[in-house]
Amino acid sequence: MDIVEQLTRKLAREERARLEAEQLLEQKSREVYQTNEELRHLNAILESSINDKTIDLQKANARTQLLHQTVLMAAEVGNYNEALLFCCRLVCETVGSPVGHIYKIDVENDSQLVSADLHWSASEQTQQLFQNLVADWRFPRGIGLPGAVWATKKAIWLPDIESDPRYRRFLTDIDEKITAAVAFPVTSDSEFVAVVEFFVEESLKPSESFLGLLETIGQQVGQVLERRNALEDTRRAKESADQANIAKSQFLANMSHEIRTPMNAIIGMTELVLLTEVTDEQKDCLTTVVSSAEDLLNIINEILDLSKIESNKTELDIGAFELRESVFECVKALAPSSHEKHLEILFHFDESVPYRVYGDRSRLRQIIFNLVGNAIKFTSRGEVEVSANLIEQREQDCVVEFSVRDTGIGISSDKHDVIFNKFEQADTTTTRKYGGTGLGLSIVTKLLNLMGGHLKLESDVGVGSTFKFTLPFGIVEMQNSQTVSARLSGNRVLLVDGNDRLHEIISEMLRPAGAIVESAVDRADALRRIALQGTGNGAYDFIIIDQKSVVKFNSEYLADIEHSIAAGTIVIVMRRAIRHSVVYKAKAKKEQVKFVTKPMEQMVLIDLMVSSKNDLKYEVDEHSLSSSSVDQAK
Ligand code: ADP
Repeated sequence: MDIVEQLTRKLAREERARLEAEQLLEQKSREVYQTNEELRHLNAILESSINDKTIDLQKANARTQLLHQTVLMAAEVGNYNEALLFCCRLVCETVGSPVGHIYKIDVENDSQLVSADLHWSASEQTQQLFQNLVADWRFPRGIGLPGAVWATKKAIWLPDIESDPRYRRFLTDIDEKITAAVAFPVTSDSEFVAVVEFFVEESLKPSESFLGLLETIGQQVGQVLERRNALEDTRRAKESADQANIAKSQFLANMSHEIRTPMNAIIGMTELVLLTEVTDEQKDCLTTVVSSAEDLLNIINEILDLSKIESNKTELDIGAFELRESVFECVKALAPSSHEKHLEILFHFDESVPYRVYGDRSRLRQIIFNLVGNAIKFTSRGEVEVSANLIEQREQDCVVEFSVRDTGIGISSDKHDVIFNKFEQADTTTTRKYGGTGLGLSIVTKLLNLMGGHLKLESDVGVGSTFKFTLPFGIVEMQNSQTVSARLSGNRVLLVDGNDRLHEIISEMLRPAGAIVESAVDRADALRRIALQGTGNGAYDFIIIDQKSVVKFNSEYLADIEHSIAAGTIVIVMRRAIRHSVVYKAKAKKEQVKFVTKPMEQMVLIDLMVSSKNDLKYEVDEHSLSSSSVDQAK
């Protein structure tokens, strides 16, 4: 083989190899292209699926928002029409509808729906046009889109509103692109109430689930109606109950008034007969008539009071008065009933409480009488204390807190609320020990409400109760012009025996007058202290002693004290307040012994102390002192 042939063969081989390589390359390129195309296709599918999911999510989000806002609105809006309109607007805005409105059952013909005056549109012009257009639309049940919604109570999609001749003008007048409508029912307690209708482009065909959502929204709006109806029912029931109550109170007020007049005559006439000559037996009977009639009159007065308050006939009588003095008078008036039960009655007004105020004096006294009366009634040993403190003070007015404390039977915590209701008593058993009508606290609460006050109770069974109330007053005069200062300057006072709290109160009364007050713990301590001071210059100026101890020791104690005191010492015996004056066996032997009735006012006590000191210089008519000022030991 020559060289040429060899070369030719080689070339041919190389050419074949090249061709093969090219073919392979071409095939590979085709394969790559194909794979690429497949990838592109997959990518497009993926993208479209992501897009779909995003749209689904957005839709779901919009629906959740729609439902959420409807629920919120249903909870907040009280007005039913407002709720319907709000719902219509919300749906239109969410789906992008230019206009929507509400149908209700025609009041003139309840077999058809009429477009209510509740329309919503994004533009005012469309709303005006729409309003004119729908004014005469009427749909009987089952007819047209709203009629079908009424009949089925389902949300319905109408893709071609032109099919109903009533809507034709709509298309030309308002928006030709809007060719479809959706309507859904508003139901309350499954009863049909109204139809919400809105218009959209046909492309916005709602899914079944969206139609379901619209039905749920319709139910939510219906709840507002339910609530409004319930409120309306409650209001009507309350109104008629109030009216019945007022009529009843009015009747009670008239009745009580009518009974009061003859009751007063019975009491007056019986008292007159008592003044004539009667036998002891007759006197007994007549006295019982008077006291029973008085009890009855009290009950009638309470009923009258409550009736007056309840029929809104109570008017406050505001004027200027001395606060401390007015409350003290009540306490003083009730002191005999307290002392007859051997209870200590204490009175303590903080110095900061204004002296003269604007307010309703007689109502305040009525409240104090009621609370102190109860405190005495429900306490068998210990004490009852009435006190007052200033808790707020501005330039022209103030708030005072009053407190009525007792050491009585107390009130169990489960009764703390009920006893303020009328006719309620803590003890409702038939064997109950204490009388009463259960009206007192109810009157107090109502009076306090009228006066801008507030009543609170703290109580423990077997320990006692404290009723506290606050009242606002206008300030007339902060302080009494009569001052106690320095009237007892440097005088030494020994408080003997008696109640600890009473000692505290007396000390507080005397210290502003400059007195130096000491307390003896018992009788022996008192005698020891008196002996220690001697009868010279260091002797006590005053010894204040409780009548209880004088009585307990059958006057020996008083005699002991009288025996050991200095010539310049005044002994003040605090005696109980009792209704009928009877002669007290223990007689004071010296004119240095004075008597004062509990509870004592600061000024009265200081006046007595100062004047007794001055009187020591003069002779005292011992006989008049012992017969008029002393009581009998019990
Ligand atoms: P009344 O005293 O006429 O029964 P109230 O309305 O004044 O009516 O009082 C209602 C009830 O509250 C009383 O029956 C009694 O059970 C209870 N209560 C009131 N004040 C006291 C008190 N200071 N201590 C114990 N219980 C009291």
